[in-house]
Amino acid sequence: MKITSIETAVLRIPTAPPIALDIPEQALVVATIRTDEGPEGLGYSLAFGGFGAEAIQTYLDTRLAPALLGADPLLVERHWEALYRLDRGLKRQGIAAYALSAVDIALWDIVGKVAGLPLYQLWGGYSDTIATYGSGGWGSYSIADLVGEAERYAALGCRYYKLKIHHPDPRVNRERVAAVRNALGPDIGIMVDVNQKLDVLGNIRQARLLEEFDLVWYEEPVLADDIAACADVARSINIPVATGENNYTRYEFRDLIERNAARYLMPDVCRANGYSETLKIGRLAAAHQVLVSPHVVHELSLHICGALPNGFLVEFIDWTPPDLFEELPACINGAFTVPQRPGHGMQITSAAYAKYRVS
Ligand SMILES: [Mg+2]
Repeated sequence: MKITSIETAVLRIPTAPPIALDIPEQALVVATIRTDEGPEGLGYSLAFGGFGAEAIQTYLDTRLAPALLGADPLLVERHWEALYRLDRGLKRQGIAAYALSAVDIALWDIVGKVAGLPLYQLWGGYSDTIATYGSGGWGSYSIADLVGEAERYAALGCRYYKLKIHHPDPRVNRERVAAVRNALGPDIGIMVDVNQKLDVLGNIRQARLLEEFDLVWYEEPVLADDIAACADVARSINIPVATGENNYTRYEFRDLIERNAARYLMPDVCRANGYSETLKIGRLAAAHQVLVSPHVVHELSLHICGALPNGFLVEFIDWTPPDLFEELPACINGAFTVPQRPGHGMQITSAAYAKYRVS
C-alpha cells in the first residue's frame, strides 16, 4: 500500500458562551491521507484557541507531507522516527509536534481500517467505556456562569468537574471553588487548574487555602518547562498534582515520572506527537503507579484510555457544535463509549468543511 496524497485544511469554529468569554474560537488542523488501495486516514490537531493553526498547516504541507508521499502507511513507527528527526536545527516541539501528531493520528486511522478494528482494540483493549470529567470554569466566568456550567455537566452524569484558578488573589479562587462545592455537594470530585500561572511559593500558598475541599487534583502549577519546580510543588502541597498537557514525548514524561512531579499525567494526543507517543507515555506511567488522564479532544483520546489499565478520565469540554463531526460520542451517565468503528472512528462532516474551512 502506498500513500498517494496528503490534503490539509484549517477549520475555524466559533464557540458558544460561557466558553466564548475566554476562548471565542477553536481551530482544527486536518490531514487526510489517501492511499492507492482505498483506505483513507483522518488526522487532526486541535489548535486550542485557534492560535498558530496556519503555521502548523504550512509545516505539515511543506515538510511532513513530501516526506511521506509514496511510502507504506502501515509502517507508522518508521515514519514517526523519520519525521520526528526531521529539521532538528529548526525545531524541537510546538508547531512541528502538532503537525506530526495530525499525521500520526491519520496513519493509525488507516492501520485500524486495514485491520478492521477500533484502535483501542488493536492496541490491546482494556475498556470500551471511559468515565469523563466536565471541564471549563475559565477566569472570565461569573460565579453564576461557573455554577451553571458545573451543574450542566453534573446533569449529564459527570462525577467530576474542573475549574480554572486564574485570579491573582488566592482567596478569590478559594471562593470560586467553594461556590462549586456548595452547588455540587460532597459527592462530585473537583479539580483545579493553574495553567502554569504561579511559581512554587505561590502554589504552596494557593494550595493551602484549598486543602479543605478534598480536591482530586491540582493541575499544571508551574511553567511546563520547569519539571524540577513541578516536583517541588508536588512534594510541598497536600493535593495530588496533575500535569502534562504542555509536555511532549516519552522523554519529558519520563523526567516528570522520575522526579515524582505528578500523580496524574495529561498527555495531549495532538501535542505529544500523536497516538504513537501518547501510548508509550501511558505504558511508561503504568510502570510507576501513575494514572493517565489525556488532555482535551476526548473523541480521539478515548482510544488511549480504552487501551490502558491506568487510564483514568478523559477531559470533556463541551464546545463542539453538532455539525462538526459525524457521530460524536455522547456523554451518557458521565461516560463515553469508545467509537466501535475501525480506526479512531471519527469523521468531519462535509457541512463542516463548507462552513468552517478557512485554508
Ligand atoms: Mg489544563
